[in-house]
Amino acid sequence: MSAVVLGAAAGAAALGTGLWGTYAQNSRLFGRALGHGPAGPSGRPYVYLTFDDGPNADATPRILETLARAEVPAAFFMVGRHVRLFPELARSAAAAGHEVGNHTDSHVKLHRRGPGTIRRELAAAHAAIQETTGRAPRSFRAPHGFRNPFVVPAAERLGYRVFGWSFGVWDTARPGAEEIRRRMRAKIRPGAILLLHDGDGYDVRGDRTQTAAALPGLIADARAAGYEFRPLADLLA
Ligand SMILES: [Zn+2]
Repeated sequence: MSAVVLGAAAGAAALGTGLWGTYAQNSRLFGRALGHGPAGPSGRPYVYLTFDDGPNADATPRILETLARAEVPAAFFMVGRHVRLFPELARSAAAAGHEVGNHTDSHVKLHRRGPGTIRRELAAAHAAIQETTGRAPRSFRAPHGFRNPFVVPAAERLGYRVFGWSFGVWDTARPGAEEIRRRMRAKIRPGAILLLHDGDGYDVRGDRTQTAAALPGLIADARAAGYEFRPLADLLA
């Protein structure tokens, strides 16, 4: 093999590693993102419920109501801009004891941004959440999980733990509430951090009512399979 071919192969391998670090939501290349929790006791395994991109005027109140009725804790990774639009929903989530995490201020894909923009995006959402809920966020999840070398240091400067997720069920594509529920039933496993969406990062009016409609059945399915919903805050220590 010629040196040129070898060089090209090494370049492709390096590029592949870089892309993996950028796009894999739990990759360690650009700093650790927690993608699952402990499995919990056998016979009563743990799962962690998370919602991204809210608050949303239609879906978030329904989801909060379901969580309250079922006594299930969840984490909401909120977009700063949406928190300023729906402060009462952000306050309700925090007041109910749910974890409210930072999901940037305007849901930008961070992997192509420099350190200044990344710091500003995180700081603006941090301020919005703290001023609205009275509590400083302690956790961060990057939009789409996309990161680069500047993201985790910016999050750690704010004292955050960075979260990925174990799996999503493409609820944003709106396949129907029953299908969302079915996919979750098929994929759930001990220690999983489940990704759902109570909002749309790019559209404040985005429709997430299917996710809200799927939630009661989804909780019932998980409990029937022996799972216990644990707060994401358990993983902050
Ligand atoms: Zn998002």
